[in-house]
Amino acid sequence: MKVIDQIKNAKVSLFSFELLPPVKGNSIEKLYRAIDPLIEFNPININITYHQHEVAYKAIKKNLIEKKIVRKRPGTVAISAAIKHKYNITVVPHLICGAFTREETEDALIDLNYLEIHNLLALRGDPPRGEKRFIPEPGGNGQAVDLVTQIVNMNKGIYLEDEQVNTNPTDFSVAVAGYPEKHFEAPNMKSDLQYLKEKVDAGADYIVTQMFFDNKKYFDFVDLCRGEGIKVPIIPGIKPITFLNDLHLLPQTFSIEMPVELVTELKKCKDTQAARQVGIEWGIVQAKELKARDVPVIHFYSLGLSDNVRAIAREVF
Ligand code: FAD
Repeated sequence: MKVIDQIKNAKVSLFSFELLPPVKGNSIEKLYRAIDPLIEFNPININITYHQHEVAYKAIKKNLIEKKIVRKRPGTVAISAAIKHKYNITVVPHLICGAFTREETEDALIDLNYLEIHNLLALRGDPPRGEKRFIPEPGGNGQAVDLVTQIVNMNKGIYLEDEQVNTNPTDFSVAVAGYPEKHFEAPNMKSDLQYLKEKVDAGADYIVTQMFFDNKKYFDFVDLCRGEGIKVPIIPGIKPITFLNDLHLLPQTFSIEMPVELVTELKKCKDTQAARQVGIEWGIVQAKELKARDVPVIHFYSLGLSDNVRAIAREVF
């Protein structure tokens, strides 16, 4: 089923969560162990992230360094298919522009279509770890809007080679990312919103937000989007604090702010267990308020560690 239709038919806020593919060499069982405890809360879908290669530098001799390309978390398409079939649940694989030519993107979309996976989250992707700037693959999509356009073209039966005729139109529903605290590269919120509107105008059905810890940022963002003429559902994404150093890591990595009250509570924590408990309590308050304001879905960034998401879901759904 299309996520957008699930949202349209919903009477209360729904539950969804995101998982990362296992690190190369690990088994998919670990992922299933993360999913199992969350199934009783009837997730409407599970998102599976996509990870570009990383750039690593390895000293091979004195004064000689080798640049290596490493893909640590492959398998998004196969994992999505495995979860869909094991749990009979809607899956939303993420698809990124980075490291893909348009031809490779088309191939991935053809695979997904054969696998009957019809919901996607279209992203530009971050620069690979170890690189500062995002540089598209030669012949690849440069911004998320280009990827949305390619997907929407396939929905019209338009493939990359002009001479292809009598093609079967695909039937993908596409979501895109939005940033309540602005994307870190955008010079200002206004320009970020204009580009977000471009993605929606290109055919995105709904928006999933970057994580935030202050609900006001989300509510303000929704108002700004509506003011810009963005009418599609905007799904809030929230992340329970998982590790003690999330306090420093999350603001740095995602260009987001942590409310003073949360920082104060985390600074009192002596270990990860205490920080997780603070994260659970904060997440319950956040999710309850979002639910009370009738958001369409509350989407959790779980990182594949679901005990804290479960503790929140038990109180909220
Ligand atoms: P875009 O929409 O292309 O925007 C990127 C920047 O360019 C913004 O500053 C925007 O204002 C600007 N911009 C947009 N369009 C144009 C244009 N036409 N011309 C000029 N500037 C423009 N990353 C992963 O690698 N894998 C994942 O699985 C993943 N999942 C994510 C899920 C969610 C819900 C979110 C919020 C983010 C996720 N990310 C993921 C991170 C994301 O890839 C990065 O934030 C990336 O830097 C931007 O992606 P985007 O799709 O928002 O890019």
